[in-house]
Amino acid sequence: MFLTGEDWDRYSEKYARSFVSQNFGPGDKVVVCASYGMNVGASTMTLAAQKMGMTIIPEGKCTFPVRIMKNYQPTGIVGSVFKLIRLARRMEKEGMNPQESSIKRLVAGGESFAEESRAYVEKLWDVPVYNTYGSTEGTMCGECHEKVGLHVPEDMVHLDVYNPQMEDFIADGECGRMVLTTLLSPGDKTGTLLLNYDTEDTTVVVSRDKCPCGRTHMRILNPEREAETAWVMGAPFNRVDIERGVFQTGNMDYLTGEYEAFLYGDEEEVTLRVSMECHDVKNCPQELVQENF
Ligand SMILES: [Zn+2]
Repeated sequence: MFLTGEDWDRYSEKYARSFVSQNFGPGDKVVVCASYGMNVGASTMTLAAQKMGMTIIPEGKCTFPVRIMKNYQPTGIVGSVFKLIRLARRMEKEGMNPQESSIKRLVAGGESFAEESRAYVEKLWDVPVYNTYGSTEGTMCGECHEKVGLHVPEDMVHLDVYNPQMEDFIADGECGRMVLTTLLSPGDKTGTLLLNYDTEDTTVVVSRDKCPCGRTHMRILNPEREAETAWVMGAPFNRVDIERGVFQTGNMDYLTGEYEAFLYGDEEEVTLRVSMECHDVKNCPQELVQENF
């Protein structure tokens, strides 16, 4: 990816909007668990924080020592759902209750996740978890505090949704492939211009109406990776659907949330095998977990 200085400004603008829409502001201290490197997310998030008067604790990953939580008293963390679960567990092991920490809100990103796993992380930390979707190509959509879809920065990127066969646009409310086009003001420069760029992610346009938060930019559902979608007997399902089964209420008293899934077979017969990790094998009601799943 080629990025000009103006591209960096646009990236940071998108992150700043997203943070503001999640009620972050001056005085907030946010731990960034995304890696600082060729991935532009972490760096441009940090630029966004500068614009907003917010402090960033640039950890780069979520395996930082839990004393950071005590010494710096962060008010937010940006990380993936699974990293946030593991961090909470590490804190508990060291005698800290995540629900009584300085954290006021969490931002989940990096990969798509099930609504059930968000609910679980919210319960674990007792704070709201906001969703973001970003890619190096230049999209960055963030959920506002109303949690009714991710706002698309429509003045910087044009988003179309095509049908899976890539033949035509589909109506709002239907699921299809996200196709992006960069929008620039006259005279603006960009290092990478996207024209009908296929993200290979699928989404649904939730609404183009004004959001209860007051913002007018369109809202989309959390995009899912097309590559993580399998078709069985003519019906599609995604990795997120399996995660939804794992994180069912009643399961998470016994499970860690970690799982692995295998799909094999032929046109006649298909087998889905899912293994789930539990805290304590001896005291895990396996039939109950199986039934919930
Ligand atoms: Zn909104």
